[in-house]
Amino acid sequence: MKVYGNKTLWLVTGSQTLYGPEVLAQVERNSREIAAGLDASAQLSAKVVFKDVVKSPEEILKVCLEANNDPDCAGLVLWMHTFSPAKMWIAGLAALRKPWLHLHTQFSAELPWDTIDMNYMNLNQSAHGDREFGHVPTRMGKERKVVVGHWKAERVQRQIDDWARAAMGWNEAQTLSVARFGDNMRQVAVTEGDKVSAQMQFGYNVQAYGLGDLAEACDAVSDADIDARVEAYHEEYTVDGALMKDDHTRECIRNEARLEIGMERFLGEKGCMAFTNNFENLTGLTGLPGLATQRLMSRGWGYGGEGDWKTAAMTRIAKVMAEGREQGTSFMEDYTYHFGARDQVLGSHMLEICPSIAAQKPTLEVHLHTIGIRKDIARLRFNGTPGPSMMITVIDLGHRYRMLVNELDTVEPPRDLPKLPTARALWEPRPDLEVSATCWIHAGGGHHSVYTQALSLDAVRDYADLVDVELAVIGADTTVPAFRDQLRHGAAYWSLRKGVL
Ligand code: MN
Repeated sequence: MKVYGNKTLWLVTGSQTLYGPEVLAQVERNSREIAAGLDASAQLSAKVVFKDVVKSPEEILKVCLEANNDPDCAGLVLWMHTFSPAKMWIAGLAALRKPWLHLHTQFSAELPWDTIDMNYMNLNQSAHGDREFGHVPTRMGKERKVVVGHWKAERVQRQIDDWARAAMGWNEAQTLSVARFGDNMRQVAVTEGDKVSAQMQFGYNVQAYGLGDLAEACDAVSDADIDARVEAYHEEYTVDGALMKDDHTRECIRNEARLEIGMERFLGEKGCMAFTNNFENLTGLTGLPGLATQRLMSRGWGYGGEGDWKTAAMTRIAKVMAEGREQGTSFMEDYTYHFGARDQVLGSHMLEICPSIAAQKPTLEVHLHTIGIRKDIARLRFNGTPGPSMMITVIDLGHRYRMLVNELDTVEPPRDLPKLPTARALWEPRPDLEVSATCWIHAGGGHHSVYTQALSLDAVRDYADLVDVELAVIGADTTVPAFRDQLRHGAAYWSLRKGVL
Protein backbone atom coordinates (compact mmCIF):
# COMPACT_ATOMS: atom_id res chain seq x y z
CA MET A 1 0.00 0.00 0.00
CA LYS A 2 1.27 3.50 -0.83
CA VAL A 3 1.35 5.60 2.33
CA TYR A 4 3.67 8.49 1.51
CA GLY A 5 1.41 10.66 -0.64
CA ASN A 6 3.30 12.41 -3.43
CA LYS A 7 6.72 11.46 -2.12
CA THR A 8 8.10 9.38 -4.96
CA LEU A 9 11.15 7.28 -5.78
CA TRP A 10 12.71 7.80 -9.20
CA LEU A 11 14.08 4.86 -11.15
CA VAL A 12 17.01 6.15 -13.17
CA THR A 13 18.69 3.74 -15.58
CA GLY A 14 22.29 4.18 -16.60
CA SER A 15 23.48 3.44 -20.11
CA GLN A 16 25.57 5.08 -22.85
CA THR A 17 25.09 6.12 -26.51
CA LEU A 18 27.26 3.26 -27.86
CA TYR A 19 24.37 0.85 -28.37
CA GLY A 20 22.28 2.85 -30.81
CA PRO A 21 18.64 3.94 -30.66
CA GLU A 22 17.04 0.50 -30.97
CA VAL A 23 18.77 -0.99 -27.95
CA LEU A 24 18.26 2.20 -25.95
CA ALA A 25 14.54 2.15 -26.74
CA GLN A 26 14.42 -1.42 -25.41
CA VAL A 27 16.34 -0.30 -22.28
CA GLU A 28 13.72 2.38 -21.70
CA ARG A 29 10.79 -0.04 -22.23
CA ASN A 30 12.31 -2.50 -19.77
CA SER A 31 13.01 0.26 -17.24
CA ARG A 32 9.43 1.47 -17.46
CA GLU A 33 8.22 -2.06 -16.81
CA ILE A 34 10.45 -2.41 -13.75
CA ALA A 35 9.32 0.96 -12.34
CA ALA A 36 5.67 0.03 -12.93
CA GLY A 37 6.25 -3.38 -11.34
CA LEU A 38 7.83 -1.86 -8.24
CA ASP A 39 5.13 0.79 -8.07
CA ALA A 40 2.43 -1.88 -8.16
CA SER A 41 4.18 -4.03 -5.55
CA ALA A 42 2.38 -4.51 -2.24
CA GLN A 43 5.82 -4.63 -0.60
CA LEU A 44 6.59 -1.01 -1.46
CA SER A 45 5.12 1.79 0.64
CA ALA A 46 6.25 4.58 -1.70
CA LYS A 47 5.36 5.38 -5.30
CA VAL A 48 7.98 4.54 -7.93
CA VAL A 49 8.24 6.26 -11.31
CA PHE A 50 10.54 5.74 -14.24
CA LYS A 51 12.52 8.94 -14.68
CA ASP A 52 15.08 8.56 -17.46
CA VAL A 53 17.70 6.52 -19.25
CA VAL A 54 20.85 8.58 -18.81
CA LYS A 55 23.64 8.21 -21.34
CA SER A 56 26.14 11.01 -20.70
CA PRO A 57 27.73 12.98 -17.82
CA GLU A 58 25.48 15.92 -18.71
CA GLU A 59 22.28 13.87 -18.54
CA ILE A 60 23.39 12.27 -15.27
CA LEU A 61 24.20 15.62 -13.64
CA LYS A 62 20.91 17.05 -14.88
CA VAL A 63 18.77 14.30 -13.35
CA CYS A 64 20.67 14.50 -10.04
CA LEU A 65 20.14 18.28 -9.85
CA GLU A 66 16.46 17.81 -10.73
CA ALA A 67 16.14 15.31 -7.87
CA ASN A 68 17.74 17.77 -5.46
CA ASN A 69 15.28 20.47 -6.46
CA ASP A 70 12.09 18.43 -6.48
CA PRO A 71 10.58 18.27 -2.97
CA ASP A 72 8.45 15.29 -4.03
CA CYS A 73 11.48 13.23 -5.03
CA ALA A 74 12.26 11.17 -1.92
CA GLY A 75 15.15 9.27 -3.42
CA LEU A 76 16.68 7.62 -6.47
CA VAL A 77 16.94 3.98 -7.45
CA LEU A 78 19.92 3.65 -9.81
CA TRP A 79 20.37 0.67 -12.10
CA MET A 80 22.71 -0.02 -15.01
CA HIS A 81 20.80 -2.01 -17.61
CA THR A 82 23.84 -1.93 -19.87
CA PHE A 83 27.37 -0.73 -19.36
CA SER A 84 27.50 2.90 -18.22
CA PRO A 85 31.15 3.99 -17.91
CA ALA A 86 31.30 5.23 -14.36
CA LYS A 87 33.44 8.33 -14.72
CA MET A 88 30.26 9.76 -16.28
CA TRP A 89 28.64 9.48 -12.83
CA ILE A 90 31.21 11.40 -10.78
CA ALA A 91 29.76 14.89 -11.25
CA GLY A 92 26.17 13.73 -10.73
CA LEU A 93 26.88 11.69 -7.60
CA ALA A 94 28.98 14.53 -6.17
CA ALA A 95 26.03 16.90 -6.59
CA LEU A 96 23.28 14.49 -5.51
CA ARG A 97 21.83 15.40 -2.11
CA LYS A 98 18.91 12.94 -2.06
CA PRO A 99 19.07 9.37 -0.70
CA TRP A 100 19.89 6.82 -3.39
CA LEU A 101 19.92 3.07 -3.70
CA HIS A 102 21.87 0.93 -6.14
CA LEU A 103 19.57 -1.78 -7.48
CA HIS A 104 21.70 -4.58 -8.92
CA THR A 105 19.15 -6.47 -10.95
CA GLN A 106 18.51 -7.72 -14.46
CA PHE A 107 15.38 -7.32 -16.53
CA SER A 108 14.80 -11.05 -17.15
CA ALA A 109 15.30 -13.56 -14.40
CA GLU A 110 16.28 -16.60 -16.39
CA LEU A 111 18.73 -16.91 -19.24
CA PRO A 112 17.10 -17.98 -22.53
CA TRP A 113 19.46 -20.92 -22.88
CA ASP A 114 18.35 -21.96 -26.36
CA THR A 115 18.21 -18.53 -27.96
CA ILE A 116 20.83 -16.47 -26.17
CA ASP A 117 23.13 -14.65 -28.58
CA MET A 118 25.40 -11.60 -28.50
CA ASN A 119 22.44 -9.23 -28.90
CA TYR A 120 20.97 -10.56 -25.66
CA MET A 121 24.37 -10.30 -23.99
CA ASN A 122 24.78 -6.68 -25.12
CA LEU A 123 21.36 -5.66 -23.87
CA ASN A 124 21.65 -7.33 -20.45
CA GLN A 125 24.94 -6.15 -19.03
CA SER A 126 23.96 -5.34 -15.43
CA ALA A 127 26.26 -8.07 -14.13
CA HIS A 128 29.29 -6.03 -15.13
CA GLY A 129 27.65 -2.63 -15.75
CA ASP A 130 26.58 -2.36 -12.12
CA ARG A 131 30.02 -3.38 -10.92
CA GLU A 132 31.65 -0.65 -13.02
CA PHE A 133 29.14 1.84 -11.62
CA GLY A 134 29.62 0.73 -7.99
CA HIS A 135 33.35 1.38 -8.15
CA VAL A 136 32.87 5.13 -8.33
CA PRO A 137 30.70 5.75 -5.22
CA THR A 138 33.08 3.51 -3.27
CA ARG A 139 36.00 5.64 -4.49
CA MET A 140 34.01 8.76 -3.54
CA GLY A 141 33.24 7.44 -0.04
CA LYS A 142 29.48 7.62 -0.71
CA GLU A 143 27.33 5.47 1.56
CA ARG A 144 24.44 3.82 -0.25
CA LYS A 145 22.27 0.76 -0.08
CA VAL A 146 23.05 -2.00 -2.57
CA VAL A 147 20.20 -4.43 -3.24
CA VAL A 148 20.97 -7.53 -5.30
CA GLY A 149 18.48 -9.88 -6.94
CA HIS A 150 15.67 -10.06 -9.46
CA TRP A 151 13.38 -7.04 -9.14
CA LYS A 152 10.23 -9.18 -8.92
CA ALA A 153 11.52 -11.10 -5.88
CA GLU A 154 9.70 -10.24 -2.65
CA ARG A 155 12.99 -10.20 -0.75
CA VAL A 156 14.39 -7.59 -3.13
CA GLN A 157 11.25 -5.45 -2.91
CA ARG A 158 11.24 -5.65 0.88
CA GLN A 159 14.85 -4.47 0.98
CA ILE A 160 13.97 -1.57 -1.29
CA ASP A 161 11.09 -0.72 1.04
CA ASP A 162 13.33 -0.77 4.13
CA TRP A 163 15.54 1.79 2.41
CA ALA A 164 12.54 3.76 1.10
CA ARG A 165 11.22 4.08 4.65
CA ALA A 166 14.64 5.26 5.85
CA ALA A 167 14.66 7.76 2.97
CA MET A 168 11.24 9.03 4.09
CA GLY A 169 12.62 9.51 7.61
CA TRP A 170 15.60 11.39 6.18
CA ASN A 171 13.32 13.56 4.04
CA GLU A 172 11.09 14.31 7.02
CA ALA A 173 14.04 15.37 9.15
CA GLN A 174 15.22 17.94 6.57
CA THR A 175 12.26 20.15 7.43
CA LEU A 176 11.41 18.88 10.93
CA SER A 177 11.17 21.44 13.72
CA VAL A 178 11.32 20.28 17.34
CA ALA A 179 9.72 22.58 19.93
CA ARG A 180 11.21 22.76 23.42
CA PHE A 181 8.97 23.86 26.28
CA GLY A 182 11.36 24.52 29.13
CA ASP A 183 15.01 23.47 29.20
CA ASN A 184 16.49 20.03 29.86
CA MET A 185 16.08 18.48 33.30
CA ARG A 186 18.64 19.93 35.66
CA GLN A 187 21.93 18.00 35.97
CA VAL A 188 20.92 15.32 33.45
CA ALA A 189 23.74 14.50 31.00
CA VAL A 190 22.51 12.30 28.19
CA THR A 191 19.59 14.48 27.14
CA GLU A 192 22.00 17.33 26.39
CA GLY A 193 23.58 17.90 23.01
CA ASP A 194 24.74 20.32 20.39
CA LYS A 195 21.72 21.54 18.46
CA VAL A 196 23.85 23.01 15.68
CA SER A 197 25.70 19.77 14.98
CA ALA A 198 22.41 17.85 15.26
CA GLN A 199 20.92 20.03 12.55
CA MET A 200 23.95 19.53 10.31
CA GLN A 201 23.92 15.76 10.89
CA PHE A 202 20.20 14.94 10.88
CA GLY A 203 18.56 17.99 9.31
CA TYR A 204 16.02 18.85 12.03
CA ASN A 205 16.06 22.15 13.90
CA VAL A 206 15.32 22.61 17.59
CA GLN A 207 13.58 25.76 18.83
CA ALA A 208 12.68 26.94 22.32
CA TYR A 209 9.28 28.48 23.05
CA GLY A 210 8.07 30.30 26.15
CA LEU A 211 5.83 28.36 28.48
CA GLY A 212 3.71 31.48 28.87
CA ASP A 213 2.91 31.42 25.14
CA LEU A 214 1.92 27.76 25.32
CA ALA A 215 -0.18 28.39 28.43
CA GLU A 216 -1.97 31.17 26.58
CA ALA A 217 -2.82 28.80 23.72
CA CYS A 218 -4.15 26.21 26.18
CA ASP A 219 -6.21 28.78 28.12
CA ALA A 220 -7.79 29.95 24.86
CA VAL A 221 -9.37 26.54 24.11
CA SER A 222 -13.17 26.77 24.23
CA ASP A 223 -15.43 24.57 26.35
CA ALA A 224 -17.17 23.35 23.20
CA ASP A 225 -13.86 22.15 21.73
CA ILE A 226 -13.05 20.42 25.01
CA ASP A 227 -16.46 18.71 25.03
CA ALA A 228 -15.92 17.37 21.52
CA ARG A 229 -12.45 16.07 22.35
CA VAL A 230 -13.68 14.32 25.51
CA GLU A 231 -16.31 12.63 23.32
CA ALA A 232 -13.49 11.20 21.21
CA TYR A 233 -11.83 9.84 24.36
CA HIS A 234 -14.98 7.88 25.12
CA GLU A 235 -14.89 6.33 21.66
CA GLU A 236 -11.24 5.37 21.70
CA TYR A 237 -10.67 4.33 25.31
CA THR A 238 -12.41 2.52 28.11
CA VAL A 239 -13.63 5.20 30.49
CA ASP A 240 -15.21 4.36 33.86
CA GLY A 241 -18.52 6.29 34.00
CA ALA A 242 -17.83 7.32 37.61
CA LEU A 243 -14.89 9.46 36.45
CA MET A 244 -17.20 11.72 34.47
CA LYS A 245 -19.70 12.02 37.33
CA ASP A 246 -17.10 13.16 39.84
CA ASP A 247 -16.40 16.90 39.45
CA HIS A 248 -12.68 16.59 40.23
CA THR A 249 -11.83 13.64 37.97
CA ARG A 250 -14.00 15.02 35.15
CA GLU A 251 -12.08 18.29 35.37
CA CYS A 252 -8.76 16.38 35.24
CA ILE A 253 -9.87 14.71 31.99
CA ARG A 254 -11.21 17.93 30.52
CA ASN A 255 -7.95 19.60 31.41
CA GLU A 256 -6.02 17.08 29.32
CA ALA A 257 -8.31 17.87 26.39
CA ARG A 258 -7.50 21.55 26.90
CA LEU A 259 -3.76 20.78 26.93
CA GLU A 260 -4.01 18.48 23.91
CA ILE A 261 -5.87 21.04 21.81
CA GLY A 262 -3.72 23.93 23.03
CA MET A 263 -0.45 22.11 22.30
CA GLU A 264 -1.75 20.85 18.95
CA ARG A 265 -2.67 24.40 17.88
CA PHE A 266 0.55 25.91 19.14
CA LEU A 267 2.72 23.23 17.49
CA GLY A 268 0.65 23.46 14.32
CA GLU A 269 1.12 27.21 14.12
CA LYS A 270 4.89 26.89 14.60
CA GLY A 271 5.14 23.94 12.20
CA CYS A 272 6.59 21.58 14.83
CA MET A 273 5.98 17.82 14.58
CA ALA A 274 8.01 16.98 17.69
CA PHE A 275 8.24 18.52 21.14
CA THR A 276 9.73 18.22 24.59
CA ASN A 277 8.71 19.43 28.01
CA ASN A 278 10.09 19.09 31.51
CA PHE A 279 8.22 18.46 34.75
CA GLU A 280 10.60 20.86 36.51
CA ASN A 281 9.51 23.74 34.35
CA LEU A 282 5.77 24.02 33.84
CA THR A 283 5.13 27.63 34.81
CA GLY A 284 1.69 28.73 33.67
CA LEU A 285 0.55 25.22 32.78
CA THR A 286 -1.79 23.23 35.01
CA GLY A 287 0.71 20.39 35.35
CA LEU A 288 2.65 17.84 33.35
CA PRO A 289 0.54 16.84 30.35
CA GLY A 290 -0.30 13.12 30.52
CA LEU A 291 -3.12 11.92 28.29
CA ALA A 292 -2.50 15.02 26.13
CA THR A 293 1.07 13.98 25.30
CA GLN A 294 0.06 10.34 24.81
CA ARG A 295 -2.60 11.44 22.34
CA LEU A 296 -0.28 13.75 20.40
CA MET A 297 2.26 10.94 20.09
CA SER A 298 -0.38 8.54 18.81
CA ARG A 299 -1.36 11.15 16.23
CA GLY A 300 2.20 11.35 14.88
CA TRP A 301 4.08 13.86 17.00
CA GLY A 302 7.50 12.96 18.32
CA TYR A 303 8.05 13.43 22.04
CA GLY A 304 10.93 13.32 24.51
CA GLY A 305 10.59 13.79 28.26
CA GLU A 306 12.73 16.08 30.42
CA GLY A 307 13.81 18.22 27.49
CA ASP A 308 15.13 15.26 25.49
CA TRP A 309 14.93 16.79 22.01
CA LYS A 310 17.12 14.10 20.38
CA THR A 311 14.64 11.40 21.37
CA ALA A 312 11.70 13.62 20.44
CA ALA A 313 13.11 14.04 16.93
CA MET A 314 13.97 10.33 16.59
CA THR A 315 10.46 9.36 17.72
CA ARG A 316 8.98 11.52 14.96
CA ILE A 317 11.42 10.18 12.36
CA ALA A 318 10.69 6.57 13.40
CA LYS A 319 6.95 7.25 13.18
CA VAL A 320 7.37 8.56 9.63
CA MET A 321 9.51 5.54 8.73
CA ALA A 322 6.78 3.28 10.14
CA GLU A 323 3.93 5.01 8.28
CA GLY A 324 1.10 2.62 7.41
CA ARG A 325 2.34 -0.19 9.67
CA GLU A 326 -0.06 -1.54 12.27
CA GLN A 327 2.52 -1.83 15.04
CA GLY A 328 3.35 1.15 17.20
CA THR A 329 6.21 3.45 18.14
CA SER A 330 6.65 5.30 21.43
CA PHE A 331 8.96 7.35 23.58
CA MET A 332 10.27 4.93 26.24
CA GLU A 333 12.45 4.59 29.31
CA ASP A 334 13.98 1.51 30.91
CA TYR A 335 12.33 1.82 34.29
CA THR A 336 12.62 -1.21 36.57
CA TYR A 337 14.08 -4.74 36.41
CA HIS A 338 12.76 -8.18 37.15
CA PHE A 339 15.63 -10.56 37.92
CA GLY A 340 14.23 -14.05 37.50
CA ALA A 341 14.40 -17.14 35.31
CA ARG A 342 14.53 -14.69 32.39
CA ASP A 343 15.67 -11.21 33.41
CA GLN A 344 13.17 -8.63 32.23
CA VAL A 345 12.83 -4.87 31.88
CA LEU A 346 9.68 -2.99 32.75
CA GLY A 347 9.66 0.01 30.44
CA SER A 348 7.50 3.02 31.14
CA HIS A 349 7.64 6.72 31.88
CA MET A 350 5.96 9.10 34.29
CA LEU A 351 2.98 9.30 31.95
CA GLU A 352 4.07 9.63 28.35
CA ILE A 353 3.86 6.26 26.61
CA CYS A 354 2.19 6.21 23.19
CA PRO A 355 -0.99 4.10 22.94
CA SER A 356 0.05 2.97 19.43
CA ILE A 357 1.96 0.15 21.20
CA ALA A 358 -1.03 -0.97 23.32
CA ALA A 359 -2.03 -4.64 23.41
CA GLN A 360 -5.61 -3.79 24.34
CA LYS A 361 -7.97 -0.83 24.34
CA PRO A 362 -6.34 1.61 26.79
CA THR A 363 -8.21 2.65 29.90
CA LEU A 364 -8.45 6.35 30.69
CA GLU A 365 -7.71 6.84 34.37
CA VAL A 366 -6.94 9.61 36.85
CA HIS A 367 -4.17 9.03 39.39
CA LEU A 368 -1.98 11.05 41.67
CA HIS A 369 1.29 12.01 39.99
CA THR A 370 4.08 12.20 42.56
CA ILE A 371 7.31 12.93 40.68
CA GLY A 372 8.36 16.58 40.76
CA ILE A 373 4.79 17.75 41.24
CA ARG A 374 1.95 16.21 43.25
CA LYS A 375 -1.20 16.38 41.24
CA ASP A 376 -4.00 14.21 39.91
CA ILE A 377 -3.40 13.70 36.20
CA ALA A 378 -5.47 11.84 33.60
CA ARG A 379 -3.52 9.28 31.60
CA LEU A 380 -3.94 6.15 29.51
CA ARG A 381 -3.01 2.83 31.02
CA PHE A 382 -2.23 -0.31 29.00
CA ASN A 383 0.35 -3.03 28.41
CA GLY A 384 2.61 -3.09 25.36
CA THR A 385 1.84 -5.66 22.67
CA PRO A 386 3.93 -8.85 22.95
CA GLY A 387 6.30 -9.55 20.05
CA PRO A 388 9.64 -8.50 18.59
CA SER A 389 10.56 -4.90 19.37
CA MET A 390 13.57 -2.66 19.45
CA MET A 391 14.85 0.38 21.28
CA ILE A 392 16.69 3.07 19.36
CA THR A 393 18.62 5.82 21.06
CA VAL A 394 20.74 8.64 19.69
CA ILE A 395 23.54 9.99 21.83
CA ASP A 396 25.83 12.98 21.46
CA LEU A 397 29.44 11.94 22.14
CA GLY A 398 30.63 15.55 22.02
CA HIS A 399 32.35 15.41 18.63
CA ARG A 400 29.96 13.01 16.88
CA TYR A 401 26.73 11.04 17.27
CA ARG A 402 26.12 7.36 17.91
CA MET A 403 22.91 5.48 17.30
CA LEU A 404 22.36 2.47 19.49
CA VAL A 405 19.78 -0.26 18.99
CA ASN A 406 18.80 -3.14 21.23
CA GLU A 407 16.55 -5.84 19.84
CA LEU A 408 13.93 -6.97 22.36
CA ASP A 409 11.13 -9.45 22.81
CA THR A 410 8.14 -7.86 24.48
CA VAL A 411 6.19 -10.31 26.63
CA GLU A 412 2.91 -10.49 28.48
CA PRO A 413 3.28 -9.39 32.13
CA PRO A 414 2.74 -12.44 34.40
CA ARG A 415 0.34 -10.52 36.67
CA ASP A 416 -2.01 -7.56 36.46
CA LEU A 417 0.14 -4.85 38.13
CA PRO A 418 -3.03 -3.31 39.61
CA LYS A 419 -1.23 -0.54 41.51
CA LEU A 420 0.95 0.68 38.64
CA PRO A 421 -0.85 3.76 37.27
CA THR A 422 1.17 4.15 34.04
CA ALA A 423 1.27 2.53 30.62
CA ARG A 424 4.15 0.08 30.26
CA ALA A 425 5.77 -2.66 28.26
CA LEU A 426 7.60 -5.68 29.68
CA TRP A 427 10.44 -7.06 27.59
CA GLU A 428 13.38 -9.43 27.49
CA PRO A 429 16.33 -7.76 25.79
CA ARG A 430 18.37 -9.81 23.33
CA PRO A 431 20.51 -11.74 23.90
CA ASP A 432 19.75 -11.33 27.62
CA LEU A 433 19.66 -8.50 30.13
CA GLU A 434 23.24 -9.06 31.30
CA VAL A 435 24.82 -8.69 27.86
CA SER A 436 22.33 -6.08 26.69
CA ALA A 437 22.75 -3.70 29.60
CA THR A 438 26.53 -4.21 29.76
CA CYS A 439 26.86 -3.27 26.09
CA TRP A 440 24.32 -0.42 26.33
CA ILE A 441 26.20 1.12 29.25
CA HIS A 442 29.62 0.75 27.58
CA ALA A 443 28.17 2.43 24.48
CA GLY A 444 26.99 5.38 26.59
CA GLY A 445 23.34 4.74 25.71
CA GLY A 446 20.85 6.87 27.59
CA HIS A 447 17.83 5.93 29.64
CA HIS A 448 15.44 7.32 27.00
CA SER A 449 14.80 5.64 23.70
CA VAL A 450 12.40 5.21 20.84
CA TYR A 451 10.60 1.91 21.30
CA THR A 452 9.18 0.48 18.10
CA GLN A 453 7.61 -2.72 16.82
CA ALA A 454 7.04 -1.27 13.36
CA LEU A 455 10.53 -1.11 11.87
CA SER A 456 12.99 -3.69 10.66
CA LEU A 457 16.59 -3.50 11.79
CA ASP A 458 17.58 -3.08 8.14
CA ALA A 459 15.47 0.07 7.87
CA VAL A 460 17.24 1.52 10.91
CA ARG A 461 20.62 0.55 9.43
CA ASP A 462 19.67 2.27 6.20
CA TYR A 463 18.68 5.39 8.13
CA ALA A 464 22.01 5.42 10.02
CA ASP A 465 23.81 5.20 6.66
CA LEU A 466 21.76 8.09 5.28
CA VAL A 467 22.66 10.36 8.19
CA ASP A 468 26.22 9.00 8.20
CA VAL A 469 26.22 8.13 11.90
CA GLU A 470 27.61 5.09 13.73
CA LEU A 471 25.05 2.41 14.48
CA ALA A 472 25.84 -0.11 17.21
CA VAL A 473 23.37 -3.00 17.46
CA ILE A 474 22.84 -5.25 20.46
CA GLY A 475 21.04 -8.39 19.29
CA ALA A 476 20.78 -12.15 19.63
CA ASP A 477 24.40 -12.79 18.58
CA THR A 478 26.06 -9.99 20.56
CA THR A 479 28.84 -10.74 22.99
CA VAL A 480 30.35 -8.17 25.34
CA PRO A 481 34.00 -8.51 24.25
CA ALA A 482 33.17 -8.31 20.53
CA PHE A 483 30.81 -5.39 21.10
CA ARG A 484 33.41 -3.46 23.06
CA ASP A 485 35.98 -4.10 20.33
CA GLN A 486 33.45 -2.87 17.77
CA LEU A 487 33.05 0.39 19.72
CA ARG A 488 36.83 0.83 19.88
CA HIS A 489 37.29 0.17 16.17
CA GLY A 490 34.32 2.39 15.41
CA ALA A 491 35.83 5.22 17.45
CA ALA A 492 38.93 5.14 15.25
CA TYR A 493 36.91 4.87 12.02
CA TRP A 494 34.47 7.66 12.81
CA SER A 495 37.19 10.01 14.04
CA LEU A 496 39.13 9.46 10.80
CA ARG A 497 35.97 9.80 8.73
CA LYS A 498 35.08 13.12 10.36
CA GLY A 499 38.61 14.41 9.71
CA VAL A 500 40.26 17.51 11.13
CA LEU A 501 38.05 20.51 11.88
MN1 MN B 1 12.62 10.25 31.61
